[in-house]
Order: sequence, then C-alpha cells, then structure tokens
Amino acid sequence: MGEETLVLFKNIRNPKYKKSLSDYRKSGGFKSLKKAFDMKPDDIIRAVKESGIRGRGGAGFPTGLKWSFMAKGTGKPSYLVANADESEPGTCKDRELMLKDPHMFLEGMMIGCYALGCHHGYIYVRGEYFPSIKSLNMAVEELYEEGLLGKNPLGSGFNLDITIHTGAGAYICGEESALLDSLEGKRGHPRVKPPFPAVSGFNGCPTSVNNVETLACIPFILGENGVENFKSYGPENNSGTHLVSLSGHVNRPGVYELRMDVNMKDIIYDFGGGIRNGKKLKGVIPGGSSSPVMTADEVDVLYNFDDLAEKGTMMGSAAMMVFDEDTDVVKLLHRITRFYAHESCGQCTPCREGTHWSRQIIRDFLSGNGSDEKLKRLDRVGGNMMGTTLCALGDAAAMPIQSFVKKFPKEFRKYYSNFK
Ligand code: SF4
Repeated sequence: MGEETLVLFKNIRNPKYKKSLSDYRKSGGFKSLKKAFDMKPDDIIRAVKESGIRGRGGAGFPTGLKWSFMAKGTGKPSYLVANADESEPGTCKDRELMLKDPHMFLEGMMIGCYALGCHHGYIYVRGEYFPSIKSLNMAVEELYEEGLLGKNPLGSGFNLDITIHTGAGAYICGEESALLDSLEGKRGHPRVKPPFPAVSGFNGCPTSVNNVETLACIPFILGENGVENFKSYGPENNSGTHLVSLSGHVNRPGVYELRMDVNMKDIIYDFGGGIRNGKKLKGVIPGGSSSPVMTADEVDVLYNFDDLAEKGTMMGSAAMMVFDEDTDVVKLLHRITRFYAHESCGQCTPCREGTHWSRQIIRDFLSGNGSDEKLKRLDRVGGNMMGTTLCALGDAAAMPIQSFVKKFPKEFRKYYSNFK
C-alpha cells in the first residue's frame, strides 16, 4: 500500500497517541499558537496566503484571500465560524479530525481568530456527529481549564471564547450563509449575496466561515518552514496534503492523507486495494455527490483541484465514491437526485422544481417509461438549474444529472421498454 504524507493525521496515525491536551502538547501542539501571538495579525494572513492553501470544504477558494476580505474598522465585532457540518454525501474527514485529534483543529481555529481579530469563534457541527461533538466538548473544556481559552491565553493579552453549536441535519446548512442563519436561530436559508459574510455575516458582523480541515492545516503552515513545506506537497496552486474520503466498491475504504500530486488510479488501486471481488471499475464520483461523474478510462489523472477541473469535473470535498461494473448508474443517479430534491430549501424556482422534475423523470426510466425525448428533457432540466440559483445547491444537483446523461447514455437506454 502507498504511503500517506502525515501532517493532519500525524497524531491520529500514532497508535500511542491519547487525544489529550498533554499528548497534543508533547507532539508540538500550541507552539504555532504561541508563535502567532508574537506575530502581527496581517503577517499571519500573509503566511496563509503564501502557503497557497485553498478551502477544503468543497469550493477550493484561497483561504488567505478570504481572510483578507474581512471588513475592518466597522466598529462591530468580527467572527470566525468553523463549518463542521460536513454534509456532502461521501465526505467523512472532518469527523475524523474532530473525533481523534480535536486540538489540532482548535489550535488552527484559535490562530485564525487571532489573525482576524475575533474574540468569539463558533463551531457549527453536524448534529448527527455525536462522538465528534463529545470529543470537541471535552477538548474545549480542557482548554478553558488550562487557561488556553478565555482571558489572556498564553499571556497574549487576547481574550478568546469558543462556542460549539450543533446543527439539525440539513444539507443546506453547509452553505455558509444558510449556516449563519441557522446559527442565529433562524431557519437555514441561503442568503442573497452580496453582501458576503466577510462584510455582513453572523448577526450582521464581518465573519469568516472556514472548513475544519482548512483550519487544522494552519498550525502546520505557521510552524517551522511550514509555508515552504506545505507548498512542496503538490503542484503549483494545489498545495498541501489533503484528506481523501475513499468509499464505495474498493477493498480498503477509509480516509487517507495524501499529497496533491497523487494519481487517482493509485488512490483506487494502491491505497484502496482495488475493486472488491475482483470486479472492474465502472466509474468514480470524484468529489462528493455533487461533482460530475468520471468513467473508468478517465481516472488516470492527478487528484487535485486544477487537474480535475481540466477534466471537466471537480475535487470538491475530496470524497471519492467508486463504483464497479455491476452498478446500475440510473439507480445511483436516482438516489443522488432524491437527496437533492429533499434538501432543496425551495427558495429558487429552478432548484425547487428542477430537483423534483429530474427525480420524477429518472423514476420514469426505472419504471420502464423512459424515452430518447425524456433523456433529452432530463439533460435540459439539469441545464436550466446550472448557474440560475441563489446558492450552489442548484449546480450541485445539476452536475451529476448532466454528467451521468453524457457519460452513460446507454445505461439509460437499457431501461426503455422498446430497447433492443
Ligand atoms: Fe434553496 Fe436550492 Fe435556491 Fe439554494 S439553490 S437557495 S437550496 S432553492
């Protein structure tokens, strides 16, 4: 099996690691926070920019740039909110970090708060993640007891509180503005943008929303030679290691920490141990259920943001779902489409109607009522959702539909009652 590059999982992969604050400190933990407190906030943001880190939640937006957008001098408090909702199907990496090494993520969050001048950070965590929530609660309590949170941690003169807030299991609350509405106690509806959260976020104040894994990278970036080392782990513009959630029909599913210059084929056949039961690969959903599907002959590509974009798909949250030759892709798409129809918040017509129509058309295929015209209509419904909605859920629902129709038309035709 190939070797992981351990930055985020360096403690998790150590069988002797106990997940306590003292073990985290023994592993070098909180040295970066101490260093950060001796730096000017703008210098921290500059280092994060230089590292090239892009958000690990799905969109891949440069983190340093996002931080630099925070409105200053507004006279209002500013906030850092960790997006720990992790609701993209197939994704399970933030869960690992919060469950098995919560301090690394918390240290990154604390550095982020200091860099952005936030005295209060929030963690919006997926409500079903009971063990992770427990682990986070214990870690935050420990930090308060040891004086690392609250008033004047490490003699910095900077006061900092962190609050953990649990969601209630809505996919849409992973969208940052819906998350903020939910955090404010409202129904989680995506907001009209602009204004963006960096100007008007939580309670109308400047807010940065960052993914858990993104924040967990920050202590490493601020460590010794952190920026250079981080950049060396992948091609230009795709720096760092990342956590790949590998699932589906592979022999060794799991979360792997990999450089950004690892080939997808190696992830499937080397790390994942190949396709189970000796079957052949049929395709891969490369970056969570919303990413355009790839066929078996397209997977010889580096698994990173830009190389996948060149192939017409996306790395998203780095959740690879592998399926074998026996998989019925029409049923698979039906499952995905049902999910988006259920999770649409209903504010925009193309998304509210399109997700339900596409589910219905696919159901027609499954019940033997498909046709060439319906296949074209399915593609058209997907096209009408792309880029026409308030938030990215419309695109997220459309991309699998259009890519499945394009890449696997024969599989749909098998369902026509008159198919020969
Ligand atoms: Fe709601 Fe869908 Fe519109 Fe997003 S795209 S705001 S989920 S209706």
